[in-house]
Amino acid sequence: MNHKLLQPTTYNPQPSLVIIGTIGLDDLETPFGKRMGVLGGSGSYSAIAASLFTNPGLISVMGQDFPKEFLKTYQNKSIDLVGVTIAEKTFRWYGSYEFDMNSAKTLKTELNSLAEFRPKVPDSYQNAKYLFLANIDPCLQLEVILHMKNRPFVLLDTMNYWISTNKDELLTVISKVNALVLNDAEARQFTGLPNLISAGRELLNLGPEYVIIKKGEHGSLMFSEGVYFSAPSYPLEDLVDPTGAGDSFSGALMGYLSQQKTVDQATMRKAIIYGSVVASYCAEGFSVERLQNITHKDVTERYEILQKIREF
Ligand code: AMP
Repeated sequence: MNHKLLQPTTYNPQPSLVIIGTIGLDDLETPFGKRMGVLGGSGSYSAIAASLFTNPGLISVMGQDFPKEFLKTYQNKSIDLVGVTIAEKTFRWYGSYEFDMNSAKTLKTELNSLAEFRPKVPDSYQNAKYLFLANIDPCLQLEVILHMKNRPFVLLDTMNYWISTNKDELLTVISKVNALVLNDAEARQFTGLPNLISAGRELLNLGPEYVIIKKGEHGSLMFSEGVYFSAPSYPLEDLVDPTGAGDSFSGALMGYLSQQKTVDQATMRKAIIYGSVVASYCAEGFSVERLQNITHKDVTERYEILQKIREF
């Protein structure tokens, strides 16, 4: 990374959480409006969400065309960018949503520099205790796992694009992670099972200790050996753009976990609730408009509301 604007890029020389994911420019259309060329990518959303809890290190690639003003967003959140490579052209995604905003329709994906990208895992990242493999080519996810030295706790996310194009590589990565997160449609696509409980069980058999299935506005399910947890989602009325809500969910979940002494059932449950809260804020604005402006106080407020919702 040699962009002058980003000096110094090291905000956290030894991040406890490392994230690999995409940095992208998105064209989005929802029933509430359109945005062209806005900041997106699974790495961007998840790192900004995680920055509410820790200063993560990001591994990704961006092009020379990446707007300077977006670089400031990472800088404002003290996201470490030593692992970001500058190449020619930034990844682009074109997506739209209809009135049921639970699932995005991909209109076009342009991999651009992502197609040739080989992740650079800085020495300072290799001892991190937590690794989030956000949605990106599973071959790149695997490369990063192989560079890590101290068996970090690894969460893996993916999407329909990679399930369709790289399922074998994805199976290899899944067998090496501690936790897997998918949305309901992806869990059904991956397993070929219509029932989410059966899908969760089947995914657990592939190796992870925890499987989380997100159901958009209907909350999420966590499966683990002999354990089933159903988490609510925040009852949001001002949903504007769900893009990145899934990545924000996982980024916040891992950000919270990275600050705990151990990962167990109890911390996982809390982490999922933090994930739901941060995802709800993300969906209140286009791109990272809302996500980048929330504080820990906002997060605590909705966390407490979710605790009340669950009482009966
Ligand atoms: P989410 O809505 O949480 O699933 O993530 C949306 C973000 O994922 C957008 O900002 C896109 O730039 C990014 N994205 C879309 N397609 C892909 C893909 N095939 N691989 C990695 N990231 C993607």
